Amino acid sequence: MAGPRRRRGRGGLVVAVCLAAAVAGCGGSAGDGAVPSTARAGASAATDRGGPRPAAVPAAAAALAAPAVLPGPARAEEETSGEAVARRAEATRAALETARRWGLARPPLAAPQPPSARPELRAAQGVKLADGRPPVVYRVPTEERIVFLTVDDGAEKDPEFSRMAAELGIPLSTFVADYLARSDYGYFRRLAAQGDAVNNHTINHRNLKVLDYGTQRDEICRQQDQLEGQIGSRPRLFRPPYGEYNDDTLRAAGSCGVEAVPLWNEEAFPDRMEYRYEDQRLHPGDIVLTHFRGTDLWPGSMPDLLRKVVDEVTAQGFALARLDDYL
Ligand SMILES: [Zn+2]
Repeated sequence: MAGPRRRRGRGGLVVAVCLAAAVAGCGGSAGDGAVPSTARAGASAATDRGGPRPAAVPAAAAALAAPAVLPGPARAEEETSGEAVARRAEATRAALETARRWGLARPPLAAPQPPSARPELRAAQGVKLADGRPPVVYRVPTEERIVFLTVDDGAEKDPEFSRMAAELGIPLSTFVADYLARSDYGYFRRLAAQGDAVNNHTINHRNLKVLDYGTQRDEICRQQDQLEGQIGSRPRLFRPPYGEYNDDTLRAAGSCGVEAVPLWNEEAFPDRMEYRYEDQRLHPGDIVLTHFRGTDLWPGSMPDLLRKVVDEVTAQGFALARLDDYL
């Protein structure tokens, strides 16, 4: 099941993340286009493509398959073996190549292992709690240097974007409005199949705040049903269009299975990031908003947008993690 485009979902294995992990192990030397010496050593005996590979680098390693998870002592032995070193060097080389191919300044940093259970949310900056309502979250409480990329609406269905995210090991949480997505739910099914989350952004993308409870419930809960039918799993997360909501919104969302309502602190565009706070920086747990939009509306493509986000996040020393693993 492990292929180069899989990522770690809950309880699953994924490899693209391992690419980034291998690079992170090389420290800052991955920057500025320099190939770390370990990567050069690993690649030196083989031609980059098509040539014979040294026996120490089996084909499976060359394909960047994730190492099997072994019990403690066996794992330690495995990790210090020559084979493991060669495999990590190969993964590092491949990660650099992938980053260069997509025009990144450097490979993305590896996100830490997600928590085995989603942490319980307590009142904190960026978290609004109310009895009997799903929490509203601008920033996930965490000490880790991670942020989360969320992509909204669903108009532009660019296969290059989903391929780039998969190859770089960037996890996405999408919030999809039915009226934009329904022309091709297959695109979002494929995102879900590569480990990305497809969440609820209502049927018609109306400003919920001005609607009565029944209409809000219809907008939210019908999209819960629609996504469950189209994607195969019922969303746990819901984001109100424009970030506009009131207590009826939260009550309606909670009534049809929504567990949390993530908003955002930063918004990303193909040419810039906009920050909510005066320090104009990312903070651990920040949620970044962007949109499925094409060059008709934006000064760049979806791959341009992802390049901007990853370069900015990496330059500030953060990794992109999967929101749905934390909320
Ligand atoms: Zn929207």
